[in-house]
Amino acid sequence: MKQIIIIKYGELSTKKDNINYFLSILKNNISNNINDIEHVITYDFGRMFIQVREEDIKKVTERLKFIFGIHEIIVGFISNDKELANIKENIIKLIKDKEFKTFKVVTKRSDKSYPMDSMEISKNIGGYILKNINNISVDVHNPELLVNIEIRKNEILYYFNGILGLGGYPVGTLGKGLLMLSGGIDSPVAGYLAIKRGVKLEAIYFESPPHTSEFAKDKVIKLSRILAKYNTTIKLHVINFTHIQEEILKNIPHDYLITIMRRMMYRISAIIAHNNKCNILVNGESIGQVASQTLTSMRVINEVVKMPVIRPVACFDKLEIIDLAKRVGTYEISTLPYEDCCTIFVPSHPVINPSIIKANEYEKLIPYKELIHEAIRGHEVLYIGIEEEKKFDDIL
Ligand code: ATP
Ligand code: MG
Repeated sequence: MKQIIIIKYGELSTKKDNINYFLSILKNNISNNINDIEHVITYDFGRMFIQVREEDIKKVTERLKFIFGIHEIIVGFISNDKELANIKENIIKLIKDKEFKTFKVVTKRSDKSYPMDSMEISKNIGGYILKNINNISVDVHNPELLVNIEIRKNEILYYFNGILGLGGYPVGTLGKGLLMLSGGIDSPVAGYLAIKRGVKLEAIYFESPPHTSEFAKDKVIKLSRILAKYNTTIKLHVINFTHIQEEILKNIPHDYLITIMRRMMYRISAIIAHNNKCNILVNGESIGQVASQTLTSMRVINEVVKMPVIRPVACFDKLEIIDLAKRVGTYEISTLPYEDCCTIFVPSHPVINPSIIKANEYEKLIPYKELIHEAIRGHEVLYIGIEEEKKFDDIL
C-alpha cells in the first residue's frame, strides 16, 4: 500500500459551469506552493490527488493547511490488490490503532466489473470489522470513523477522516485587490478574509519617517509574511506619507486632520491599485470603531474614490476580530508596541460627523494633487513571501 493525499473541495463543488477554472487554479496554487518537493497532482470534479514521496507527506499536508479552496485534507492509501480477503485485512491493519466507538463503511465502485456491488462490499467489510475489533458499533448517521473504500479500475483506495482545510476559493480566481495594511489588528484580518474569497492581494503601507520608526515598517513586513502564506507572495507598496501629513498638520483645521489624511490614503491607494490591475481596495475599517469609522466619516472618506472598497471586518466586533487574528497568526505581531502614522497625528477631538463640503474646502488649502504624485513617484516595492523561507531551507 502506498500513501496518497486526497483533497476535497467543499464550496468549490457548487461551481457548475466554471468548476474547471477554479480547479485548475487550485492545482497551480498547490503546485507552486510545493514546487520544492517532487509531486504529481491529478484531479476530477470530486477531489484532487497529490502523490509525493512518503517522507514528504507531512511537510505537504502542513502546507496545504494554508491553501484556500480546500475543504478537507486526507491521507489515504492506495493498493493494486483487489482481492476482498486482502482488502479486509488491510482495513483492519489501518484502523486497529484508531480511537473510535462507532463507524460506517462507505464504498464507491467505479469499476463496474467488480463482482460485488458497493452495498454488498460495505456490508461484508462492516461485518468483518465488527468481528475483529471489540466494543464498537455501526452508526450510519453520525459515525466517529468513516471507512471509505473506492474500487477503481486499476486500484483500490482506502481513506478515513481527514482534517479540515481552510475552505474558501483558490487565491487568484477572483482577480486582484489592494489591501491597506497598517500594523494594527484589523487590517491583516481583513486581508485574510479577502484572500479567502479568492482575491489575490497586494498591500500598501503608509509610513511617516522619522515620526514612525523602522520597527513599525518591520512589523508590517512581518504581517505581510504571514499573509503571504495564504496568498503565495505579497507585493508590498510602501508610500512615504511624511510630506503630505506635515502639510495637512500645518494647514488644515485639526478636527479634520484624520478625515483629510484618510482621503489622501484612499486616493493614493486607488491609483496604486489601478496601476497594478487591482480591482478593489480592502481595508480593516470596522463600523463605529473610531471617529473616522462612523457612517458619515466613511461616506466622506469613501467619496474620493470610484473603486469599490471592501471592508471584510466592517460588521465584526473587536473581540471577533481578535479571535480571528489569533487563528490567522497575526495577533502577536499586531500587538507589538510600535506607533503607526495615524496614532502619531491623532487630534484630541476628531470630527465625528464631517461634512463633504468642508472636507472639499479644506483640501484646497494644500496642493494635494502634487503631493500625491510626489508620494507615488517615490514609492518603494517589496516582494514578500514563502519563497524567501524556501530559499533559506535549502541553504541551512
Ligand atoms: P488596524 O485597523 O489595522 O487594526 P488601526 O485600527 O490602527 O489598525 P485605523 O486607524 O482604524 O487603523 O485605520 C483603519 C484602516 O485604514 C486600517 O484597518 C487599514 O486598512 C487602513 N490604514 C490605517 N493606517 C494605515 C497605514 N499606515 N497604512 C496603510 N493602511 C492604513
Ligand atoms: Mg482599526
